[in-house]
Amino acid sequence: MTTAVDREVVVAGAGPAGIAAAVVLGAREPALACRILCLDKAQFPRDKPCGGGLTGHAHAALAALGLAIRVPRIACGEGRLVYHHRTRDVALGRPVDIVRRREFDADLVEQARGRGLEIATGEGLASFEVDPRARLVRIVTSSGRRLTARVLVGADGAGSRVRRALAVDDRPPLRLFQAEVEAPAALAPTIAGRMVYDFSLLARGLRGYLWLFPAPGGRVNVGVMHTPSRKLSGAAIEALLREGLRRYGVALPAGARGWPAWRYRAGARIAAPHLLCVGDAAGIDALTGEGIAVGLEQGPIAADAIVSALASGDFAFAGYGAAVRRAVVGRELALDDRVAAMLYARRGFSVWLSLVLFDRRVQELYAARVSGSEVLADRKAALVGALGRHALAAPARFAALHLG
Ligand SMILES: Cc1cc2nc3c(=O)[nH]c(=O)nc-3n(C[C@H](O)[C@H](O)[C@H](O)COP(=O)(O)OP(=O)(O)OC[C@H]3O[C@@H](n4cnc5c(N)ncnc54)[C@H](O)[C@@H]3O)c2cc1C
Repeated sequence: MTTAVDREVVVAGAGPAGIAAAVVLGAREPALACRILCLDKAQFPRDKPCGGGLTGHAHAALAALGLAIRVPRIACGEGRLVYHHRTRDVALGRPVDIVRRREFDADLVEQARGRGLEIATGEGLASFEVDPRARLVRIVTSSGRRLTARVLVGADGAGSRVRRALAVDDRPPLRLFQAEVEAPAALAPTIAGRMVYDFSLLARGLRGYLWLFPAPGGRVNVGVMHTPSRKLSGAAIEALLREGLRRYGVALPAGARGWPAWRYRAGARIAAPHLLCVGDAAGIDALTGEGIAVGLEQGPIAADAIVSALASGDFAFAGYGAAVRRAVVGRELALDDRVAAMLYARRGFSVWLSLVLFDRRVQELYAARVSGSEVLADRKAALVGALGRHALAAPARFAALHLG
């Protein structure tokens, strides 16, 4: 006999990943909507450090979920790649929208509530325990509420308790520093409808990039992403961010903070009996730090796995990791993990950065992926072709990268 539960599904975290999972569950099984509880420890609107870039994949995922972008946004039809005095502007087939996460996430919560989903805010997942005999999870919330559920979805971000229990990956996380400031007048032409990705700090020891994205209200969203292939303290990363921003006439306010983000690794353990991880809890893009689209795309995969489990009574979720791996999102993440390992390796960045800066075809392919019209993981022949071209052109490109 199966023990009755308070809820079929508890989703911990009402960020994009948790909302996507809950919305799809409610849509696939309308009778289930009142048997799902989404918990978030924060009250919305809440701050979320982020570049706020919604790529073509994010747009497509939102459309598939029936969710709209109803908050202020700045459309960027172009990306600019920079290495010191070298710049390349790359047109995007579909603009990337820059939003403020405080507004965007709160509105997604409202849209999900509009579908009849229950989202309890200011009440987090405090602890949980899987009871294999009773075939359920026992959950205690930060308000002391005790609940049982058939499935617990860990959509609880980079500090995920569910991820910690699964010991998903032992690689150290990415570090990201971000701030939003008033855009100096002189910067306006540079960021008008354009996202800037500046790799100059690679030469100073950063293993990542500096970004400047135009933000709503005449502001600019700035930050750096650092991959720990090189050890840098938080203070050193922040100092590099300040240094990089000086070139653009942007002064970083005091008190900028760094945030960790786990990289997705194909084959990592992102599920266990009665438990699933989505979004940051499962890991994000190691090359760019992009994670909004990742969460929006993983949420439905988790929802499908849950619908099957509820129908079959098999809550092992043995196939979930493979389902994510095989999906477009998993294949693109795995590809970017490999590319990041090359571009942000401890040594030798010039070899790969010169490919990125000087190979127009690679830029077009990547722009098409950002626009959502291309799956790079399916374009292995084109990527191998680019490597072949690069083998011949690398010495000249390498020299051009470092010419004064
Ligand atoms: C500085 C920075 C810049 C970034 N820039 C971009 C970008 O430009 N574009 C992009 O696509 N991605 C970007 N990312 C990544 C992106 O922000 C995340 O990948 C995305 O927010 C993941 O969504 P999520 O729903 O998994 O997690 P989150 O958005 O972090 O949501 C998790 C939710 O869980 C809640 N929570 C935490 N603990 C508990 C608990 N115990 N119980 C209940 N709830 C809990 C939190 O309050 C939060 O609301 C950036 C990340 C950082 C750090």
